[in-house]
Amino acid sequence: MLHPKASVILPYESVVPLEKIGELILRYRESSLANKLRIYMTIPVTHTLGPYARFAIWVQGCPFRCPGCMTPDSLPMTGGEEIDIEVLAKAILNESKIEGITISGGEPFLQTPGLVQLIDLIKANRDIGVIVYSGYQLKKLRSMATEEAGESIKKFLKRIDILIDGLYIKSLNDGLSLRGSSNQKVHRLTNRYSEIFEYYYGRMERQVEIHIHRDEMKIVGIPGQEMLQQWQSKFSKP
Ligand code: SF4
Repeated sequence: MLHPKASVILPYESVVPLEKIGELILRYRESSLANKLRIYMTIPVTHTLGPYARFAIWVQGCPFRCPGCMTPDSLPMTGGEEIDIEVLAKAILNESKIEGITISGGEPFLQTPGLVQLIDLIKANRDIGVIVYSGYQLKKLRSMATEEAGESIKKFLKRIDILIDGLYIKSLNDGLSLRGSSNQKVHRLTNRYSEIFEYYYGRMERQVEIHIHRDEMKIVGIPGQEMLQQWQSKFSKP
């Protein structure tokens, strides 16, 4: 069981251009989030966000506003809960059946210092696989390597096995497994999943699970467009 701490409001909430990622990361670092992550939701075990069983983490806060986003409640920078990184690492290590973690959001690259800390704490105890979804394209993230915030981006990238990058574009939702739209690219940053990569990432098949999270039904996975629309029309908050 996680014990979220009281929320602290970050200095501002706005939709910012792509170039501002460095500034955003530094603001997160300067805020009270040292040793904490701002999290929208966690699910201890899912089979719908990558190979094998995975612990899923959705971070809170995203600078983008993709029409049709599956997790609109994760977008505000001021929402979610602050969770102590050590507490989250322990919760993940307690899940003996998982092969790895999937980090989505929200935008994971806004919280790279904390996520690097989290992954290192887990990996000090167990070899896990790391899959990340980001709205930022890999080439943009790599080009940040020379700036101050780029150091933590570089460290985070080094710890990722598979990165699915790019914004969600509703009209390009083509039904291929494990990514939302055809503009998004699946990058194998290590060889960890090489042997089973095609099997998981090359299928015309979407899988979802329904989880109950704090008395609310949540859809977990990458649904097809029709299913997502039906779900949102029935269960989205007014
Ligand atoms: S980048 Fe992801 S979380 Fe952010 S608005 Fe787009 S789909 Fe939603």
